[in-house]
Amino acid sequence: MAIVNGKCPQCGAVTKVNETKETAFCTQCGDQINVQQSIYLLKAAERARPDHAQAGQTNHTRTTTSQRRENRERAAEKQVMEAETRQKVSDWLQMCSTEQDFLMLRKRILDMALSEREKGMLLSVLDEMTKQRLKDTLKKAADYKSSLESPVTGIIGAIVIAAIGLAINYFFSMKWPGIVCMILAVLALIGFISDHFDKKGMEENKKAAELIEEYRKQGYKL
Ligand SMILES: [Zn+2]
Repeated sequence: MAIVNGKCPQCGAVTKVNETKETAFCTQCGDQINVQQSIYLLKAAERARPDHAQAGQTNHTRTTTSQRRENRERAAEKQVMEAETRQKVSDWLQMCSTEQDFLMLRKRILDMALSEREKGMLLSVLDEMTKQRLKDTLKKAADYKSSLESPVTGIIGAIVIAAIGLAINYFFSMKWPGIVCMILAVLALIGFISDHFDKKGMEENKKAAELIEEYRKQGYKL
């Protein structure tokens, strides 16, 4: 084929040139151009431009796609690891029969030949599941703690309610607010006293608090 594309060195336009001739005229700017030079220029330009642009784009696409894939894989891996961790801990909890077994589980995990990361995951799941398992005990322990703190505040609360009722009665000569407040105060006192004299309940709560304390000593975050 004699007629091919060339690139005009003068204006840069792509123009038809006759390969068999030495010179041609640019169809864009009309300049006389060297045919071989114009063919060479066009090839060089094609080699440089589209190739690089394409390569750059592909590279960029490749990075984002592979990054996305990597993120997805990492997320999936994390999910699988979490599920496996939960399964492991729940199996171990199933195998525990005494409170002592449960108490020592944390130390057993710490003594395992595992990476720090795996141990950390196992321990945080263990804490979470133990909290769930000891939900009632934790509540009793909290009750015990508040019963230790409340003797004075409980009585003062009842007296304040009664005093407000009496003051309303006295200053506004209204009967009902005073009666309601006195009833509330009496109920509060009765509740408070029954809490404190419920020896069995108190004993249970105290035991619960001591048990929770033991777990905390072992490092459980409850
Ligand atoms: Zn030209």
